[in-house]
Amino acid sequence: MLRKWTSVLLILVVFLPLGSSFAEEVNDESQANKHNWQVYSTDYEEIDVGTHEYTYWKNFIRQKRTCQISHRIKTTVYYCDAHDHTRSETHLEEIIHSERHKDN
Ligand SMILES: [Zn+2]
Ligand SMILES: [Zn+2]
Repeated sequence: MLRKWTSVLLILVVFLPLGSSFAEEVNDESQANKHNWQVYSTDYEEIDVGTHEYTYWKNFIRQKRTCQISHRIKTTVYYCDAHDHTRSETHLEEIIHSERHKDN
């Protein structure tokens, strides 16, 4: 009976401090790596990506026209004040055709 209790105590003594210090360390590390990303600025820009020809019908005659394509790009800049650094993300928001047409 006494032997059993000593072994239980031993386990507690050996493992408890180890366990708690390990948990603390992990916690500290995740705290240090935690970013505080906040939107710093948002910008939109249009970039010309080229032209293409499309056909359409007018008075039963097939016509050709050149259409200018541009991409509307959204750039969001994030700033993290915890580490004083930035990161940016770009998204293609829209593909714009200068001429309104249905078929390519
Ligand atoms: Zn950060
Ligand atoms: Zn077009």
